[in-house]
Amino acid sequence: MQPEPVPPEITHSVCPRCHADIDGLNGRYACTLCGWVNHWSEGQGELPAPDGHLPEPPPEPGRQPPA
Ligand SMILES: [Zn+2]
Repeated sequence: MQPEPVPPEITHSVCPRCHADIDGLNGRYACTLCGWVNHWSEGQGELPAPDGHLPEPPPEPGRQPPA
């Protein structure tokens, strides 16, 4: 029995790279101005995985200074 799918929630944030106002789904963002995206593990809730569990997120990469 699959759980009832929950529609994604539209969330708002500010791009940490170019400070544009950006919209996302469930806390996951992609900036259309500079191409910044946040990591999937920063979103709200869990993403479905084909094998039923999530892999460990990779270590945080070094913050890149703005170009
Ligand atoms: Zn941006």
